[in-house]
Amino acid sequence: MSKKVVILGSGIAGTIVANQIARKIPGELKSGAVSLTMVGNTETHVYQPGWLYIPFDLVRPEELKRSQRSLLDPLVRFVVDPVSQIDVKGQKLVAESKTEYPYDVLIIATGSVPRPDLIPGLPEAGHWFYTEEGAIKLREALRSFQGGKIVVAMGVPHKCPVAPLEVTLMLEDYLRKKGVREKSEVMYTYPVGALHTIPAVAQWAGPVFEERGIKSETFFNMKEVDKEKKILHSLEGSAVPFDLLISIPPHRGSKVVLDSGLGEGGWIPTNKQTLLMEGSENVFVVGDTTNLPVSKAGSTAHFSADILVENAISVLHGEKPAHVYDGKVYCFIETGRNQATYITFNYTTPPSPPPPTSAVHWLKLSYNRLYWLTARGIL
Ligand SMILES: Cc1cc2nc3c(=O)[nH]c(=O)nc-3n(C[C@H](O)[C@H](O)[C@H](O)COP(=O)(O)OP(=O)(O)OC[C@H]3O[C@@H](n4cnc5c(N)ncnc54)[C@H](O)[C@@H]3O)c2cc1C
Repeated sequence: MSKKVVILGSGIAGTIVANQIARKIPGELKSGAVSLTMVGNTETHVYQPGWLYIPFDLVRPEELKRSQRSLLDPLVRFVVDPVSQIDVKGQKLVAESKTEYPYDVLIIATGSVPRPDLIPGLPEAGHWFYTEEGAIKLREALRSFQGGKIVVAMGVPHKCPVAPLEVTLMLEDYLRKKGVREKSEVMYTYPVGALHTIPAVAQWAGPVFEERGIKSETFFNMKEVDKEKKILHSLEGSAVPFDLLISIPPHRGSKVVLDSGLGEGGWIPTNKQTLLMEGSENVFVVGDTTNLPVSKAGSTAHFSADILVENAISVLHGEKPAHVYDGKVYCFIETGRNQATYITFNYTTPPSPPPPTSAVHWLKLSYNRLYWLTARGIL
């Protein structure tokens, strides 16, 4: 009987895994010895990091989308059928349509979701660029912005660890180019006692903020927004007035993970080396939905997918998973003014960002287009 590999979630993590498995065991898939099914809930694949550029009129939303089917190897069976339950005991997924997807090996790649609703007043009075709709709304607000105080604030956890700095620096550049920088105040807030959780990044950001005249307040965790008075209150007791609030809402794992009771907050306990779900021998987890002690980022999904694929094929063949993920992450940091830097790190080696250059900025812009090769499992 054919062995069934099922991937839940058609974002970047699931897509890389699907294409790599198809490329590694084409014979077994063609002969029918193994079937490879991806279950998603949308026909469209979106390049989420591109949402950062929408508010500043640097990209149009349509440029960030492809048909999911067009990204997948023909040996992958792709179905759009939103899943309501992951039944680990019964070794099957149950879709809202009531269709069941039994599996021998399951890969969960359901990502993470920004939840502005967790901060009272934020949905009504705040902006964010972590959804396409939110990024377009922020673009409209910035287009009509003629000066005033802009506050940047974030909830934890959130995907893309460097996005808070990127949006702040790109905003400062945008206001300058628009000719309203003199009439504006940019204030960055951050939840821990530094400008960033990664010490080397915080150290790097300090002088850059000073040079650009960006104000900051640390130990600032969003509590609620007074939407009438336009004041953001923090858990630490401070109150910051704003004309425009740009937030990164706190994230949670996807509803199906929460409803299936697989992890608090929707984060699935995952072995940090093999990427098996803790306590399981045939369920793997990849991308934002893991509880790994590394950033929730597309590059984390990419590097861990390479390891997961090897281990998933081993389990499929009745072997022990032997490949080890070392926690590798690589993130570009857009710094505005046509410059960027980057950080790379793993579980044991912290990053150290080099000075920003225009070459790295152009590399990042090139990657924004090459992303589609990454999704196809080519790059
Ligand atoms: C503004 C922004 C900037 C970013 N910048 C960077 C960057 O510069 N570098 C970087 O590395 N990362 C960046 N990221 C983070 C990166 O986009 C995410 O970490 C990455 O998309 C996570 O991949 P994933 O596959 O785990 O989740 P996703 O790509 O979110 O995919 C999850 C998929 O699962 C599907 N799904 C969920 N529930 C179900 C269900 N019940 N049934 C069926 N399907 C379901 C979803 O619809 C989705 O298609 C950025 C993100 C944002 C928002």
